[in-house]
Amino acid sequence: MAGCAASIALARKGHRVTLIEREPTPRHKVCGEFLSGEALEDLHALGIDVASLGAVPIDHVRLAAARRAAEAPLPFPAASLTRKALDTALIAEALAVGVNVECGRSVQALQRSTNDVWQATLDDGTTREAATVFLATGKHDLRGHSRPADPQRWVAFKMYFRLSPGQTAELSRASELMLYPGGYGGIQPVEDGIANLCCVVQHKHLPSGGDRWENFLAKMQRDCPHLAMRLASAEPLLAKPIAITHIPYGFIRRTTDEGLYCIGDQAAVIPSFTGDGISIALHTARCAVAAYVAGQPAPVFQAKLRSAMLAQMRLAEIAADGLNNSFARAVLPFCLRVWPGVMRVTARLTRVAQQGVVAPEALVN
Ligand SMILES: Cc1cc2nc3c(=O)[nH]c(=O)nc-3n(C[C@H](O)[C@H](O)[C@H](O)COP(=O)(O)OP(=O)(O)OC[C@H]3O[C@@H](n4cnc5c(N)ncnc54)[C@H](O)[C@@H]3O)c2cc1C
Repeated sequence: MAGCAASIALARKGHRVTLIEREPTPRHKVCGEFLSGEALEDLHALGIDVASLGAVPIDHVRLAAARRAAEAPLPFPAASLTRKALDTALIAEALAVGVNVECGRSVQALQRSTNDVWQATLDDGTTREAATVFLATGKHDLRGHSRPADPQRWVAFKMYFRLSPGQTAELSRASELMLYPGGYGGIQPVEDGIANLCCVVQHKHLPSGGDRWENFLAKMQRDCPHLAMRLASAEPLLAKPIAITHIPYGFIRRTTDEGLYCIGDQAAVIPSFTGDGISIALHTARCAVAAYVAGQPAPVFQAKLRSAMLAQMRLAEIAADGLNNSFARAVLPFCLRVWPGVMRVTARLTRVAQQGVVAPEALVN
């Protein structure tokens, strides 16, 4: 996401760009696939028309915990679209604007050679050199450029389901957040009438044994009957869920080397319930390109980005801790029914890209 966005913006400004992507073709990724208003604006500016790709408009958020659920309208326009469709469109746009796209090539090492040139060594042993690199490997760390450990040992799963016609109608245009001990999950419609269930849980709360996903899915449904209702008679559409581990929530990169702009999840990792990671990926890409074009050194850019994002990131972390508290799980849906406005306020406050990260020009100046 961030890598494509940066390369499209750079190519449009006349720079020679090579995009190295290890997957031969876009594939499903662990992601709730919620596109916030800011993400939609950035995608539009990149020439991506999400409506024509089949994106589903989302105008409500529903919170379910234990036996209660509460609903509130979203305070901004939003949509959902599979990452496979979105990544395919972004790669096509990158090719269209003249980016040299090398798919199916994985970067194994990235080092600065003596003459101030970065050298990437690919999996076939060949190298690529450039004075400037935008590091956008998302959830995957490159050796020598790692992010800190994830002490909570988060595990995330994604699965697509075809819900029953009744549940499909109930879910329509809503993003539902479900709370359970040790984590939370979201279910929402994506294109072609299917639903995305994406959930995170701390490793110590994951049932042990060989059938981890099946056991975890059963446990989530026991802990959150709202999910059991949604999944009644649902058909799973992937042979097994996609899973990832090591998600350093709350990370914001402090510093970087000369000529190495870190963007997307390599710059900052916001708790997933905010549905803001894609918008941060797009925003950090846009800011990094503006910084590069203005001649702002990468270490200066990275430090400014960090201070601009810090307050909202910490707020999102506090909110995430709250969601993970058993008392909060018991009373939150009740409170939200009494005062639905709090959901709108929380949604606004945790929008990092809108609130804390100012326009690229301001980061550069
Ligand atoms: C459980 C969960 C749910 C989420 N739900 C949402 C949501 O609903 N809405 C939202 O906005 N955000 C969500 N996010 C966050 C969002 O998915 C990320 O913030 C976003 O994808 C980050 O974009 P990126 O460009 O940094 O990384 P990615 O989109 O992950 O892209 C990184 C790319 O780098 C490639 N790559 C990796 N290593 C190499 C290598 N060595 N060589 C070459 N290529 C490489 C990968 O193949 C990949 O294509 C969620 C995250 C999680 C964990």
